[in-house]
Amino acid sequence: MERDARKHWKHLYEEIVATEICCGCSACIVACPHKVLELSDFDPVQTDPHSPFDNCIHGEEGCSLCAMACLRLGPSLQTIESAVFGRRRTDDEPEGAYRFKTLARATDERVLARGQDGGAVTALLKHGFDTNELDGAVVAAPSEDVPWLDEPKLIRSSEELLRTAGSRYTYCATPLGLKQAVAARCKNVALVGVSCESTAVRELAAEGIKRWVRPLRLVIGLMCCETFDYGAFMVAKVERGMNLPLSDITKVNVKGRVIVTMKDGRNVEIPLKEARPYANEWCHHCPDFAAEHADLSCGGLGMEGWTMILVRSERGESFLRRALDAGVLELRPAEEEPQALKVMDRLARKQRQRVRASDPHAATRWPTNELLATALRAETAPDGDG
Ligand SMILES: Cc1cc2nc3c(=O)[nH]c(=O)nc-3n(C[C@H](O)[C@H](O)[C@H](O)COP(=O)(O)OP(=O)(O)OC[C@H]3O[C@@H](n4cnc5c(N)ncnc54)[C@H](O)[C@@H]3O)c2cc1C
Ligand code: SF4
Ligand code: SF4
Ligand code: SF4
Repeated sequence: MERDARKHWKHLYEEIVATEICCGCSACIVACPHKVLELSDFDPVQTDPHSPFDNCIHGEEGCSLCAMACLRLGPSLQTIESAVFGRRRTDDEPEGAYRFKTLARATDERVLARGQDGGAVTALLKHGFDTNELDGAVVAAPSEDVPWLDEPKLIRSSEELLRTAGSRYTYCATPLGLKQAVAARCKNVALVGVSCESTAVRELAAEGIKRWVRPLRLVIGLMCCETFDYGAFMVAKVERGMNLPLSDITKVNVKGRVIVTMKDGRNVEIPLKEARPYANEWCHHCPDFAAEHADLSCGGLGMEGWTMILVRSERGESFLRRALDAGVLELRPAEEEPQALKVMDRLARKQRQRVRASDPHAATRWPTNELLATALRAETAPDGDG
């Protein structure tokens, strides 16, 4: 592309941030070589005193890394899918390309007890640390100060890992933790993130912004229908509106409804239709339920105590097999949970229709006119009951 035709912060701001398509994944911030972008309430903001908020002097001079890094602004899906799977996923693979699927759960009782579903994600990471296959894991970790708010964090040991198990249904920009991993000179890192985050780190690699992804050995994706706004949902609705102190909540789960478990063992249910108005706006533009670009994609899909894993890449498969050989996971055939498979298929198909034809990432996801027309017709109400 000609230098003048290159997109940079000005275009990223106008097309993705100002339109609320931006999911706050922070890949542009990670990529910015002049460190002028920061994340503020899940929006990247320009902090350079010499640039206006909606432009960048370095962009005007030829820098375009933030725009290249963005999974919503012309993502390099062809390159990503060829690199990770050796082929492009087809339109009749709503969950994306994968080798096989399996149910899994941790054999360690402590991990199983703290895990959201089968504790498989934590068991895999723990295995990586225990065998020195990993020297870092970039995950969402509960804040020490603010209950039920997560922050991106580099974890260095199994013990530290346990407190990060479980799901928080608000957004946490885990790719930002790659900066911590590089600063700590980690060589073998796993990253856990929801669907958009697992694509975001692939986009960095596909665009050749390699410094931050060079140590990445494993990308674990979490299936995702939506995340909720922390202030509006967790604080205003759950804590104040329902009188459920956040510090007394031990678990939040989504199984056809939001289930809030309290310290005294009580389960308080919130119907999904009451929770959905608190979903983040950007999720209404998200086509990817099943974390299509991860090595291993994990979801609960309405089940209790088991994690469904889509094993997508060779790397993901060999990591899983080593964990299995070491006895840290037990598996069951995915087909033993037909209802979960139906839920996965339905949610993946519906989510692909969330993208509007006018969205900048539409053409790369829906390459045919017919599917573009479907996307155009589809209303964008979020749905999900995983
Ligand atoms: C925001 C969100 C939405 C989800 N929506 C669905 C859904 O609709 N349907 C479905 O089937 N599954 C969904 N999942 C996945 C599901 O909740 C479990 O994470 C998955 O089944 C793995 O369970 P586990 O017991 O193996 O994981 P665990 O062993 O408990 O490990 C969980 C991992 O998730 C990470 N994590 C927790 N919260 C976040 C967050 N906000 N952002 C990024 N990483 C986080 C933790 O750091 C930890 O590494 C969602 C997860 C999240 C975080
Ligand atoms: S154009 Fe370059 S310097 Fe400016 S915000 Fe983007 S990446 Fe940073
Ligand atoms: S890279 Fe992520 S945070 Fe940056 S503009 Fe794109 S979606 Fe938003
Ligand atoms: S629905 Fe999509 S955009 Fe929203 S948090 Fe989940 S993966 Fe990201």
